[in-house]
Amino acid sequence: MGSRIFYIKTFGCQMNERDSEIMAQSLAAHGYREGQEISEADLIIINTCSIRAKAEQKVMSLLGMLRKEKKDRPALKICVAGCVAQQEGEQLLRRMPHVDFVIGTQNIYNIIELLEEQPGNKKVLTAMSDAYDIPRFIPEFQPENHLLPSLLARPFKKFVTIMQGCNNFCSYCIVPYTRGREISRNKDDIIDEVNVLVEHGVREITLLGQNVNSYGLANTVTRNGSPYSFPLLLKDVAQSGLKRLRFTTSHPKDLSDDLIQCFQEIEILCNQIHLPVQAGSDSVLKKMNRKYTVTDYLHKVDALRSSCPDIAITTDIIVGFPGETDRDFEQTMRLLEEVRFNGSFSFKYSDRSGTKSSGFGEKVTEKIKAERLSRFQARQDEISLEKNSAFTDTSMTVMVESINTKGFQGRSVFNHVVHVESLLPSAPGDLIDVTIFHAGQHSLQGRII
Ligand code: SF4
Repeated sequence: MGSRIFYIKTFGCQMNERDSEIMAQSLAAHGYREGQEISEADLIIINTCSIRAKAEQKVMSLLGMLRKEKKDRPALKICVAGCVAQQEGEQLLRRMPHVDFVIGTQNIYNIIELLEEQPGNKKVLTAMSDAYDIPRFIPEFQPENHLLPSLLARPFKKFVTIMQGCNNFCSYCIVPYTRGREISRNKDDIIDEVNVLVEHGVREITLLGQNVNSYGLANTVTRNGSPYSFPLLLKDVAQSGLKRLRFTTSHPKDLSDDLIQCFQEIEILCNQIHLPVQAGSDSVLKKMNRKYTVTDYLHKVDALRSSCPDIAITTDIIVGFPGETDRDFEQTMRLLEEVRFNGSFSFKYSDRSGTKSSGFGEKVTEKIKAERLSRFQARQDEISLEKNSAFTDTSMTVMVESINTKGFQGRSVFNHVVHVESLLPSAPGDLIDVTIFHAGQHSLQGRII
């Protein structure tokens, strides 16, 4: 295939980032080289996200811009992957005739076949199966793919996908339709992948899935004939020699006592959990089909704090869900006061085509959504600052992530970004003890002890 250059642009979540890495690694193993600019690429892959309207708009605007690039360079191949590709399929080729390939979420492992088969033809590969087996994909660290710029960005810190899809059908969410039903990956493949990464210097891994808590439940994973669950997987992965282990995302209804206990039992498991609550009103949670109440959620928070008293808890919030009243929103504000999240990702509700909630009446106006969002975010920022300020004059271990001219930027076990002004000889992945002398809403500043 020669040394052709690909350029990959990723939108959306960490699952997509990992999928992009998988496509990049497949391409590198077949003679492609990763480029940094659209203008030098023979193949452009846009890995898309449709979870929020904004992400989808950005994808469409980039695709619109590529129309001219394709006109100027007709040999250029443009491939659209990810959730928008899965959702739109053939329709995308009709709307964007300059696109050559559309590749669905379960088909990323077939990217080479897609490119090699009928090279001159346009092709759509979006087959989805509920009984899908996630292919065994262990990265090969050959010199050429180890040098992929996308992989070199954080060579000490990696994502490992442990499952695909989701069975929860939250009424506002498109994921079960674009990523299919929940399938857990073979545990030996996961552990082999982790071991290979550790052998090549990776020190921190985040296990990824739409709902990692239900790993092994939909398609039963067993070990020596006994059921194998996410807490057991965490314990096995922790034996690999890693320095830090994280996971995301967790559905509150599936957060088991065994998993909560892991924060006490697994030394390298970071003191941090992202536990999306979405709303603080039971009636909104019911319409969202979240399958827990505010009381259930608060019990989980208490249990987490009993197991790991200083655990950092972050969340997702949607404001202005159809039918959300002022009273419902006040309950979300009350939940914020009660839990005092370390941070949150909060969004205005937007209809996603194909979801159940897009057909709900009682839509909240944009003005009210904007007011609620800004009120929630302002209070969250105050709480985040108060929580971060509690770390002033304490010490913590930071993993170096990047070096700059003044010092380095690292991350705490609680997932804070920590800026340290010191030119100590250190490399990304090193663990350094620092004292915090200043706290901001979104980061801390420290000096080396
Ligand atoms: S748990 Fe709900 S919000 Fe999360 S991916 Fe599944 S359906 Fe979407």
